[in-house]
Amino acid sequence: MNNAQTLIEDLDTAQRARMKADDFDRSYNHAHDAAWVTKCKRRNCLMRLIPDLAEEIELDRYRIMEEGHRQEVLMREELQAAGTILWHPGRLEWEEYEAKVEPDDVITEQRGKPCKIVLDYKSSDPYIFRKAQRYKDFNDLLSSEFFWMGHYPSQMLMYGAKLGIQELLILFKDKSRGTKHAVEAVADDYKNYLFEILAGLKEVNALVAKNQAPKAVMTEHCTKCEFMSTYCFPDDDGTALADRTPRISDADMETKIKRYTEIKPFEKEAKSLWSEIKDFGDGSSVIIGNYLLKRAEILTTKDGTPKEIKEQYKVPNSYFRTTLKDLNRPL
Ligand code: SF4
Repeated sequence: MNNAQTLIEDLDTAQRARMKADDFDRSYNHAHDAAWVTKCKRRNCLMRLIPDLAEEIELDRYRIMEEGHRQEVLMREELQAAGTILWHPGRLEWEEYEAKVEPDDVITEQRGKPCKIVLDYKSSDPYIFRKAQRYKDFNDLLSSEFFWMGHYPSQMLMYGAKLGIQELLILFKDKSRGTKHAVEAVADDYKNYLFEILAGLKEVNALVAKNQAPKAVMTEHCTKCEFMSTYCFPDDDGTALADRTPRISDADMETKIKRYTEIKPFEKEAKSLWSEIKDFGDGSSVIIGNYLLKRAEILTTKDGTPKEIKEQYKVPNSYFRTTLKDLNRPL
């Protein structure tokens, strides 16, 4: 049992190390998240200006991504074994847009015929794959119920534009059964969308150069954003706290607040128990287990002013109330 536990812990540790090492250069725009410029340019600016504040990927999600990458390698091997000639362009820098693009492959020959098709592999679990099978073109992907799939077209269009290739193809694979499904597109059919993406990236670049980001506008996309609960912080009315609330660093106070939130949930239970404890017995001191319940009469005074007279002396008053909100659970 101990051996099994150790083995799994070692695997997790190694996977965590790979996850950390996988962190890629955030000083550039990346094709896979360029579509964010149509939803919130602030997010793309923040990703380049303060990447350390972006919510980290959880290990479970990283596992899925890693398995996906393995399937992608297998798909490449399968295609090559079937006689398809592939070229892997690697990671390309696109200075004009301060972007990095990394197409999976380009098909250069199919059944003996030369061609140029940008190819990206996507592996999915059976449920997602069944949904993906209904997609025929990029418009279907753009209106996909899965947020991340809506980002595939801009990614592919950027690959195509950088490489000067019109034909684009996404090859989906069902991870558990190996079934494939392809979605094809001709880049020119989506040129307006590509212009929108590239113009958005230019706006982001201009803002980043000035070390600025647009003001936050909270929308339905925020729940998918890495900065929602680390930087923007939606308020109860849906507006962002980030742009109107000063941010300070005080590790000591942060520790105290954290401790307070840990013990606060027990306050009600403690009060109710104390009320039972103090009324226990006949009112005389008693020892219970290791505890002494000590009773003593305390003489004191109380304000005996009649209520009607007290009312006459009431004056308007104001005070400040402080409440505490856990910004890691903002919604
Ligand atoms: S949380 Fe919302 S407003 Fe803030 S960067 Fe993300 S998408 Fe934009």
